[in-house]
This record gives sequence, structure tokens and C-alpha cells, in this order.
Amino acid sequence: MKKRPSKKMEVACFDMEPETERSLTRHLPASRFTLRFFRRPLRPSDCKNLQNTEVLVVFIHSAVTKAIVEQMPKLRFVTTCSTGYDHIDVAACQNRNILVANVPTYGENTVAEHTFALLLSLTRNVHLAYEKTQHGDFAINQLRGLDIAGKTFGVVGCGKIGMHVIRIAKGFGMNVLAYDPRQNDRELKKAGAQAVTLDRLLRTSDVVSLHVPLLPSTKHMINARSIARMKQGSILLNTARGGLVDTHALLCALQNGKLAYAGLDVLEEEEAFLQEETQLLTKKFSQKVLQAVLEDHVLMNQPNALVTPHIAFDTHEAVERIYKTTADNVVAFAKKKPTNIVRFVPAKK
Ligand code: NAD
Repeated sequence: MKKRPSKKMEVACFDMEPETERSLTRHLPASRFTLRFFRRPLRPSDCKNLQNTEVLVVFIHSAVTKAIVEQMPKLRFVTTCSTGYDHIDVAACQNRNILVANVPTYGENTVAEHTFALLLSLTRNVHLAYEKTQHGDFAINQLRGLDIAGKTFGVVGCGKIGMHVIRIAKGFGMNVLAYDPRQNDRELKKAGAQAVTLDRLLRTSDVVSLHVPLLPSTKHMINARSIARMKQGSILLNTARGGLVDTHALLCALQNGKLAYAGLDVLEEEEAFLQEETQLLTKKFSQKVLQAVLEDHVLMNQPNALVTPHIAFDTHEAVERIYKTTADNVVAFAKKKPTNIVRFVPAKK
């Protein structure tokens, strides 16, 4: 008897670059998958054309909302080409038995290295010096920097990235304090960090660096009250998620000198920067979102803030590892052996 060809699985991939398309096409055989690529983030209006899609591959700029999953009747699996998955309504997916996967690790060194790119740029005025020399200006006034050796570096969140940050900070001769409710003190001590409370870390660190996921419980964990506890003239680094920091409070602290510098790879409502200006004006955004976008603009023009456009993950080596893991996630799901699954954890009351 002739074997019936098995049905191909339809996979829709959003926010893809040509390089991503090539890599996923290489890793996901055409005999088993029908791949559809889109060079932009997922939009609610796409659902009508995704009625047979079983797998969604997305990046951080695609919000996979409850409304979207409810309008895709065949959807069974969502995988994001990122570690963070706060752009996906995991609870809504779980309610419909849709599995969600991420790329839990693709080289924790990559984000940790960018953390120090921000820190050293700020402490040695690299970005300002570059601008000057571009104009033929070799005067060194206003470029005097700060040493980081001997300073206290506070790491908030000691998971894969945070632990790597600790090791790099030790390499620079810094004293390292660490706060993570789930991290084991012995492990931290072995890496050369001292486990302390968040309060002590904020009060005594010259540099505070965030490496925690954005969850309802961590939203605005750096706010006016926590900034008030920070050392006068200290530095805040955020390469995790914009929503961890209350932008308004940060802006006030940078303007009144409470914080000397902020190095930010992520901003609250940064997705809005990917919209065309006309879309920003015509689309309905809440007052809160528009205010955050406006404050982000002011922040980017602050001379003591250095903002990069969410590139901490973006090295050639790391990106290839991300594509490979994403493709492996899809293949594992198709084989009914799903890997790298994330679950919704309700916030503690
Ligand atoms: P991870 O899950 O390995 O570590 C996160 C750690 O944070 C865990 O150890 C957890 O116990 C701790 N944590 C949770 N809540 C906390 C709290 N309230 N206070 C202190 N610690 C808390 O994750 P990771 O791979 O180290 O990544 C950290 C975050 O970095 C991700 O969630 C993601 O949002 C962000 N990230 C950003 C980029 C980028 O390009 N900018 C790239 C990758 C990851």
C-alpha cells in the first residue's frame, strides 16, 4: 500500500531578517514544514490570513496577545527568538493549550559584554569623545572619566546573564554585591560576589545593573522610592527590560544629579519607536504609552544617559545560536517532544 504523505505543518515567522529566513529555511526541512516569512512584527489584522497556522515564530516586537491567539484556531505552538517572553500572553496561550517556548540561553556573555560596553562608554565618555573627534576636535576638556576598579557593582538578578556580569566585574577589580531571591549564596560567593538584600545593594553600590525578567512583580522595581535609596551620583544600567524602570523617576534623578549616569539598552514602550510617525499619530495609544514615549525622547537627549536600541543580544555568534535553537524548538514540538517551554507564573498577592 502506498504511504500517504504526512501533512506539512504551517509555520508563520514574523519580524524576520533575510539572514533569519535563510537560517530557518536551512534548519526546517520543506518536506515537513510550510514556512511563511514576514519582514515585520505580527499585527492583529494578520489573523485572518493565519487560519491554518499551527506554529508562530516571533521576536520581541510582535505582541502575541489574547485577542490574537483567540483568532488563530489552529495555533498550537509559539516560539520566540529571544530569552524574554513578556511580549507573549503566556496565560492566554496556556488557557488554549498552546505551548510557548523561548531561547533560554544563547551565550550569556553576549548581554553581559554589552552591559560593560555601556558602563565603560559612560565612565570614559567614549560616545562624547567620538563625536568630538568626528568634528576634528581633540580638546580633552569635559572628557575626564571615572575609574571602575575598586568601585562597588550591584547585580540585581543573578541568573545566566547576571552571573556572567559578576565574573566580568570581578575581572575589572570591582567589589561585587548581588541580590536574587532565588540564587544560592554559596554559588555567588564562589563567583566572588557578596549576597545582600536589595536595600543594601541600592544603598551601597556605585553601579546598579538589572538582569531580572519583566514580570508583574518586577515592573517598575526601580522607581522614585528605590532611586531615593541609591547612592548619590551612582550609575544605573538596564540591559534587561524597559518596564523594570519607571522612566519618569529615572529622568528626574538624572536631571537632579541623584544619578550620575544611566546606560540603557531597553526603554519602556520601546516598541512604539518601530512605528512610523504617522502611525503614532493615527493609531490609538493610551495617554500612559504616549507619555512614556515622550519621556523616552527626553531621556535619549539627556547628556548623562546613553541609550542603545535593544542590541545587547545582537552579535553574529549569538544570533546564529538563537536561530538554531528556535528551529530546534519547532522540530522538537513537531516530534511531540517540546523543549524550552515557558510557563505562566501568577504574581504573588
Ligand atoms: P535568568 O532567568 O537566567 O535569570 C533571571 C534571574 O532573575 C533569576 O535568577 C531570578 O531568580 C531573578 N529574579 C527574578 N525576580 C527577581 C527580583 N525581583 N529581584 C532579583 N532577582 C530576581 O535570565 P537571564 O538569561 O539572565 O536574562 C535576564 C533578563 O535579561 C531576561 O529576562 C530578559 O528580559 C533580558 N534580556 C535582554 C536582552 C537584550 O538584548 N537586552 C537579551 C537577553 C535577555
